[in-house]
Amino acid sequence: MLEVKNITFSYDKNPVLKQLRFNVHPGEYLAIIGESGSGKSTLLKVLYGEYDLDEGNILWKNQEILGPKYNLVVGYDFMKYVAQEFDLMPFISVEENVGKFLSNFFPEEKQKRVAELLEVVELTDFAKTKVKTLSGGQKQRVALARAIAKQPEIILLDEPFSHIDNFKKQSLRRNLFKYLKEKNIACIVATHDKEDVLGYADNMVLLNNNEIEIQGHPEELFKNPETPLIASFFGEFNIINNQIVYANQLKIVEKSHFKATVMQSYFNGNNWLIQAQYKSKTILIEHDLKLNNGEIFFFKY
Ligand code: ADP
Ligand code: MG
Repeated sequence: MLEVKNITFSYDKNPVLKQLRFNVHPGEYLAIIGESGSGKSTLLKVLYGEYDLDEGNILWKNQEILGPKYNLVVGYDFMKYVAQEFDLMPFISVEENVGKFLSNFFPEEKQKRVAELLEVVELTDFAKTKVKTLSGGQKQRVALARAIAKQPEIILLDEPFSHIDNFKKQSLRRNLFKYLKEKNIACIVATHDKEDVLGYADNMVLLNNNEIEIQGHPEELFKNPETPLIASFFGEFNIINNQIVYANQLKIVEKSHFKATVMQSYFNGNNWLIQAQYKSKTILIEHDLKLNNGEIFFFKY
């Protein structure tokens, strides 16, 4: 497994990552979440061996992952990394890019493998297209396919769907995570999208102020959000009597001790998000119907 043991890293004087520790087993998916600038990309680069640590160490199956000071060539065969800014070869085709690191020794095998990979990222129709003519999202999908081509044991993905539009994102996500599980490829994904995490990740780590604020199983952290930051990752929430309550956990009722006044209603697809004034606070409630501004209602939780 991947063992991250009390690692600390700084670009200059101030640590960006402080005393982080976690493990990832073969085939497991760990999500790294945190606000922009919290160190997600830095952590992935450190795990890849792109930088030297200040403290601690990183092991994959008991082999230490070393930084440039101790390792001439960055990276290892068992590990692949797809950066936020992926670099492809623009003047050759999609299939050539994807097959770039596959052996030419068995051309039929290679062709079959590339076809399978293009199916995972839904680019079969673009096999012969030159990469330079693709959109940002399509390029990102080529980069993903290329990274999994040689079946690494572990893959590091930095916001892997950030350039991909909503039309494609859902099915691509399902394909990719299913593929990685089937092939028992461990993955660590930096993301700020809960959709990348819930339903897929086995574990998650929340970075805040250079440290791990919380780590655990997504479903458990979702059901029992211990801090406002983790709650805000999952959805709209309120703090009522020092308790974190999601907007969909508040219910509008005939009568209760809690009285509020509607400020604004927002349609969100499945229902309405009602913004309301409760005492001196603004609260958010999900409701099936639109309410009029100024309307008074009671709620419970
Ligand atoms: P995230 O991916 O969560 O947005 P980053 O890892 O990119 O966060 O950045 C974490 C912090 O490290 C930020 O304060 C950022 O400005 C700083 N940082 C990132 N890359 C470098 C670098 N190459 N040199 C110096 N500081 C950097
Ligand atoms: Mg980043």
